[in-house]
Amino acid sequence: MIAIPSMSGRNIAVLGLGKSGMAAARALIHSGAHVLAWDDDETCRNCARAEDMPLADLMDEDFSDMAALVLSPGIPHTFPEPHPVVTRAQAANCEIIGETELLSRAGTGAAFISVTGTNGKSTTTALIGHILDQAGRSARTGGNLGVPSVALDEPGPGGYYVLEMSSYQLELVSTLVFDIAVLLNISPDHTDRHDGLKGYMSAKERVFAGQGASHTAVIGIDDAHSRGLFENLKASGDALTIPVSGADRAAGGVYVENGWLVNDIEGREERVMEMTTATALPGSHNAQNAAAAFAATRAVGLAMPQIRDGIHSFPGLPHRQEPVARINGVAFINDSKATNAAATARALYCYDHIIWIAGGQAKEGGIELLTPYFGRIRHAFLIGEAADAFSRTLQGKVDATLCDDLEGAFAGAYEMAMAQAAEEPEASGKASDAPVVLFSPACASFDQWRNFEARGDAFRTLVHKRAGIDVNLADGPAPGPDSKETTP
Ligand code: ADP
Repeated sequence: MIAIPSMSGRNIAVLGLGKSGMAAARALIHSGAHVLAWDDDETCRNCARAEDMPLADLMDEDFSDMAALVLSPGIPHTFPEPHPVVTRAQAANCEIIGETELLSRAGTGAAFISVTGTNGKSTTTALIGHILDQAGRSARTGGNLGVPSVALDEPGPGGYYVLEMSSYQLELVSTLVFDIAVLLNISPDHTDRHDGLKGYMSAKERVFAGQGASHTAVIGIDDAHSRGLFENLKASGDALTIPVSGADRAAGGVYVENGWLVNDIEGREERVMEMTTATALPGSHNAQNAAAAFAATRAVGLAMPQIRDGIHSFPGLPHRQEPVARINGVAFINDSKATNAAATARALYCYDHIIWIAGGQAKEGGIELLTPYFGRIRHAFLIGEAADAFSRTLQGKVDATLCDDLEGAFAGAYEMAMAQAAEEPEASGKASDAPVVLFSPACASFDQWRNFEARGDAFRTLVHKRAGIDVNLADGPAPGPDSKETTP
């Protein structure tokens, strides 16, 4: 476990005892700090009690005696209104930090690479970590994805922390300057915790705070908001600023054009690889993620072939267009992470002949925005609370079957896909005509499952059973990250 010597003997309050708060409290206790921990939730307090963690209601504590308050990212400290404990800490001028800032104070000598953005954070973080691993560099990957920053093993001097950072987590960084900071994209999302889009953007922008000439900023320019940030930073910042795009030429940066990943950082417009060869990274959204990972790992000093090999061999993350199995030429894709229509649109865009399983707890707007992709869907099998509403939207455009549950939907989709596979590929001879069974719910999972991971696992198990794969051995393409503590 990491030790943070500067915390030894100091009084530190920890508020929020979820995954990251517990990790912070453990590291602080290990470092010899006097910790007082609290969570408003009794179950979380019981977990801390089980580890003999000192608990105290922080509303009763004197913050003038505290060196710092370590806050979980899920707890508001500015908007819509600060948690009352935060207000007390602020009134006493007590420093408020998150677990990543805490890690930076351990002085490990490792470099920090961070990835933020509205979408693609986990994929890009995991991809950067994978490329570095494959190139023989010592890298530890986590943060908002999987293992909290402070609980990661030390990579050692010369190594790297590769951290996914949500906007909430970025607000709790004060002195840490990221050596390489990646901002993928910004779309209006989760603005309720940030006083609107402006607040959300300034939280994201913090990923570049304090960067100087020895640092690198990698910025997606495929949306107006992040393109604006790129232009500001390029004009006023000291860091090497690299634009990336999954859709257009990005002069001086990394981009995908006509299906090729191109590196123009050194001004030579070198073709790196065809993106279709990176099978775990389909679609233009993943092209943006690959371009960003290329820029970040190039900034570390990796050679082009090392990066290309890493992108090729990336196994992908579970639940994000995860290829589960191929049976009689039919690909079964688990896209359970698609909890809204915008995410499902990314997946529908990637296939031509889709047998679609969708539904769950509907989000506002339903599936209206998927209308341009309806021509690709041969049949929809609908489940969950949203099934009726979805079938109304599809009426007259896409044939649909209402199903009782995922098992029923899968059985129907399987039979139909096998029948179509037997007819169609021979007819045209084109691989793209082979049916794809796509489980991309466009809904939250909470009407039937604990989270999107449990839902995706259920789909994977059904596929594996049909494919005759031992379900105990078949755990997906890569170790699954646990649920994220925060998303934005
Ligand atoms: P995050 O960690 O930001 O939630 P993930 O990497 O887990 O992102 O991807 C979640 C979903 O977001 C994917 O299944 C896909 O639908 C979409 N997505 C991934 N990368 C991007 C991107 N660069 N731009 C837009 N959408 C993306």
